[in-house]
Amino acid sequence: MNVVELIVTKREGGSLTGSEVQQLVEAYTAGNVPDYQMSSFLMASFLNGLSEEESVALTDAMLRSGETVDLSAIPGIKVDKHSTGGVGDKVSLILAPIVAACGVPVPMISGRGLGHTGGTLDKLESIPGFNTQLDIEAYKKQLHDLGIVLIGQTAEIAPADRKLYALRDVTGTVEFIPFIAASIMSKKLAEGIDALVLDVKCGSGAFMKTEESGRELAEKLVGIGERFGKKTVALLTDMSTPLGRAVGNWPEMEESIRCLKGESVEDLMEVTMALAAEMIVLGGVEKDLAGASALAREAISSGKALKLFRQLVERQFGDARVVDRPEIRRSESRVRTVMAPVGTGPYVHSIDAHSIGKATVALGAGRQSKEDDVDPLAGIYLLKKESEHVAPGEPLVELYATSEERFKETEEAVLSSFSYTESPFSVRSRLLNRYSDGRWMHPAGHRCV
Ligand code: URA
Repeated sequence: MNVVELIVTKREGGSLTGSEVQQLVEAYTAGNVPDYQMSSFLMASFLNGLSEEESVALTDAMLRSGETVDLSAIPGIKVDKHSTGGVGDKVSLILAPIVAACGVPVPMISGRGLGHTGGTLDKLESIPGFNTQLDIEAYKKQLHDLGIVLIGQTAEIAPADRKLYALRDVTGTVEFIPFIAASIMSKKLAEGIDALVLDVKCGSGAFMKTEESGRELAEKLVGIGERFGKKTVALLTDMSTPLGRAVGNWPEMEESIRCLKGESVEDLMEVTMALAAEMIVLGGVEKDLAGASALAREAISSGKALKLFRQLVERQFGDARVVDRPEIRRSESRVRTVMAPVGTGPYVHSIDAHSIGKATVALGAGRQSKEDDVDPLAGIYLLKKESEHVAPGEPLVELYATSEERFKETEEAVLSSFSYTESPFSVRSRLLNRYSDGRWMHPAGHRCV
């Protein structure tokens, strides 16, 4: 392999063969291609595009760079969900126990917060003691025994992605759909699943800002999944405003526990139930989405999903008392209630997800650099959401942080992420579109809760 020739081919807008892509990724992961050559390849590909074949070959090479978990000894169709990331997106924490309580094994390998978006691992670790770093044997055993396991990426899974992601991060090549798709799918395909549901988010709080780019990413992700023989469905969901009311690690965990106890946070449960129904159908437990939705609702009303979540927390060494009484943990944090200023109202029109995400990071809930620790208790609780009435002087949001300094730094940004309108209106559905079997259709099959 002549690396310079491969770079020149991409620079001139040509395509590489699958085997050339494979060799390049293998050599880079082994340390035989230096960062400066790989950076040139990444930028040339970013500017001139990657063909379908190149995207599949890239995913395959990244997948093969590490271990592929074999879950075939565990009965049932194993189904996972992946979200492309958003603000207040705690769906996995509610969804995974619901789906597992309905009899579909859920092996989930999740990531940490990235930029202004939160990560499931950080949220799980806000439960004192919760261990997300199980090895592959423990991961398999727990899936077998409990039907649910939530862990972080291990060193064995897709090491090429870790190396390439770090390089993309410093070479301005993150926001490229074929790279994002290969990165996500290589990790998901390695975890041993049979089928996958994707929550592709679009809007200010997502990586894909427009519906059009969200659709492009969804098509790419589903296409790759199907090429690898995994039934894959994508829902396109709105992320222009935070999902639910809580943003931040423990605040989101607490909101999730409340939802598992039966509270309905409307937009959050709309997305959660739609994804749950897709997973239950893919898992072969129900034939259609209506039956699957009914089963998912029953998992909540019967308390089965909550019970399973509690067992999961105990099994992964977390303090399950916070599941019983989540308000105790919240009271450990310093809180500031921010009032609606003069001139606001009478109805909240929108809350910009990107600004709220950035403010949450500034409160200490996210990382400014890779090495930073997160404050598990930091975050924001939206006392008012879109379409709700608010008068000047009424409580608008609660901020959680460890210092007054952090409150001062973020209050202004949080206030300016709200916009207002004169007239009441109905909030539009978060479910924008659904892609499966090469077709887009409005997700009308999903009953909103
Ligand atoms: N999430 C990933 O895992 N990879 C990307 O490239 C972007 C988001």
